[in-house]
Amino acid sequence: MTSMILPTSITGSLPKPTWLAEPGVLFASWRVPAERLPEAQDDAVRLVLADQQDAGLDIVSDGEQRRRHYIWGFLNGLTGIDTERLGEKRARGGRYGEKTAVARVVGEVTRPGPVFVEALRFTKAHATRPVKVTLPGPMTIVDSVADEHYREDEAALARRFATLLNAEALALAAAGADVIQLDEPCFNIYVDKVRAWGIETLERCLDGVNATTAIHICYGYGTPRVLAWKRSNRSWGEYAETLPLLAGSSVRQVSVECAASGVDPSVLGALRRQDVLLGVIDVGTEEVEWPDTVAARIRRTLPYVSPERLLPCTDCGLVPRSRQAARGKLRALVEGAALVRRQIGAERVS
Ligand code: ZN
Repeated sequence: MTSMILPTSITGSLPKPTWLAEPGVLFASWRVPAERLPEAQDDAVRLVLADQQDAGLDIVSDGEQRRRHYIWGFLNGLTGIDTERLGEKRARGGRYGEKTAVARVVGEVTRPGPVFVEALRFTKAHATRPVKVTLPGPMTIVDSVADEHYREDEAALARRFATLLNAEALALAAAGADVIQLDEPCFNIYVDKVRAWGIETLERCLDGVNATTAIHICYGYGTPRVLAWKRSNRSWGEYAETLPLLAGSSVRQVSVECAASGVDPSVLGALRRQDVLLGVIDVGTEEVEWPDTVAARIRRTLPYVSPERLLPCTDCGLVPRSRQAARGKLRALVEGAALVRRQIGAERVS
């Protein structure tokens, strides 16, 4: 896809313009009437592509400008899901609170047609770089819905979603998606489920997909509830269990949160074949990193991952941040990666 070392990209989301949705919050409602929404979203995508390309990112995305939320964007393209009248459950293992409002499964879940293919075509028509598309992973979907229809075990429900995600991923690859990424933050919560059925449902999603495949596993958005949990958390051992499981899977890239978490970078040594999308940008603060800080975060990983397999990235989505901070962080990401690239190039010449 690209021959340079340390190519840069973002995890997925970017903040939306304030005329499109309320800034700084997840699940923000649209501020544009339904009949004008597609055109407004097109305009927002052009802006985030310009921001990424002006900053110098090597792989770009639509910044999830067409989704109220990274999970609902896909769910809204399916039948049998209600994202208007919400249910309630203990999600994310209770990590961020005892009760969370969730979408409900209220009928047969089907995919009547492609969900993001038209959006991908628009992005590709306006992008000058390879394009990544993100999809919510089946374990994270199952954790984010109240099943009032099938009332079956989580693994069975996850397999249903994985089959639909596979159909979508095949369609996206056929339409030219360069990278297709599944977002599975729940892999950092339910390690036992990853072992029992998470890898299996991941493989079902990726089966036959002719694109670079990726999985994103993080410790959550930079929202107040998540940040409060991160501040009090003392154990960051999940990757040490999940990455060896992923090492044996067919996924090509693994996206990890290493800037704002307390993760020991040596755990990345378990990924001997895969590329590592390394989180070197903290998405939980408005403060923009210095390029030197980004470079240091990359360098401390080099003993465990060769630069040929290392792709500097953000920790997670930037949607809760201001647009100004997000733009600054994109530039810091690119400049920090360039510092390390120059250093490695000089060492190889000398
Ligand atoms: Zn994330």
